[in-house]
Amino acid sequence: MIPPKFEYFAPSTVHEALTLLRQYGSEAKFLSGGQSLIPLMKLRLATPAYLIDINRIPGLDQLQESNGFLSIGALTREADLEQSALVRANYPIVCDTARVIGDPLVRNLATIGGNLAHADPANDHPATMLALQAEIVATGLDGARTIPATEFFTDFFTTALRPDEMLTAIRIPTPPASSGGTYVKLERKVGDFAVVGVAAQVSIDAAGICTRAGLGLTNVAPTPLKVHAAEAFLQGKRLDQDSIRQAAQLAAEAARPEADLRGSSAYKRDMVRVLTTRALTRALERASGQRT
Ligand SMILES: Cc1cc2nc3c(=O)[nH]c(=O)nc-3n(C[C@H](O)[C@H](O)[C@H](O)COP(=O)(O)OP(=O)(O)OC[C@H]3O[C@@H](n4cnc5c(N)ncnc54)[C@H](O)[C@@H]3O)c2cc1C
Repeated sequence: MIPPKFEYFAPSTVHEALTLLRQYGSEAKFLSGGQSLIPLMKLRLATPAYLIDINRIPGLDQLQESNGFLSIGALTREADLEQSALVRANYPIVCDTARVIGDPLVRNLATIGGNLAHADPANDHPATMLALQAEIVATGLDGARTIPATEFFTDFFTTALRPDEMLTAIRIPTPPASSGGTYVKLERKVGDFAVVGVAAQVSIDAAGICTRAGLGLTNVAPTPLKVHAAEAFLQGKRLDQDSIRQAAQLAAEAARPEADLRGSSAYKRDMVRVLTTRALTRALERASGQRT
């Protein structure tokens, strides 16, 4: 349970952190909340020779809404997302996601940047970012670029971040009026990783027709899964029990879950159907102002 020896750095600027990363390359790792990295080091599944602790870099934990986006700094803790009045009012799906991650001790330390950069298919934020059409801001010594969430999760525990980049922020487009979303998770016990998780975000017009639908799934494939078929199916349709039922069926068909201690493949696939129905129903209630 004791990690191997490493050298520790605590830079005070992004530039300093990136310079260290360039210097030590693949032998170095950023340390954010440490809630995934430290357990992996204790199990000796990760053995970085250099740890670059980015917790002392000011400004990386800012939450602000401007120019049609919510910008979330990479070092924003789950507890801050859970308690933010702005997030709760305008992006309740993000609040729903943060509050089902681990337990309060984990959420006090774990960061959204670490959750996305770690790219565990069982992590909860990636599906939500897919449903919200978010962008990831990746910063290197030569400048910053944005990566659509749909292109960020490239493989099992693998992202589109280059070896010399830091995830510095997440940008979420501010949803139009009459939008709503939620994240629904099935877990064996409180605080556990998802058996299955579903993120749903919808926008409707005055006649109740769906103008945009976003659907992301957790832990049913090697990467978080965006359900393009269900999103396209819902677009332009009235959101009601029947269209939601059909979209949920498409989500279940898109899922590729592996059997494990959490259940058989067929069970998980059916849970995708059940949870997608619940998530879309709750998203619709929020979009039509029937639920906060
Ligand atoms: C008991 C327990 C229960 C948990 N339950 C859940 C759960 O239900 N759902 C869930 O989603 N997660 C869960 N987690 C994981 C937790 O949310 C992690 O904290 C999160 O995945 C990583 O965030 P972190 O800030 O702790 O990152 P760290 O552990 O510090 O880093 C994780 C990885 O990301 C890299 N990294 C970190 N920040 C950056 C950055 N800004 N740029 C580039 N790379 C970076 C690190 O180098 C490392 O490889 C749980 C963890 C524990 C210990």
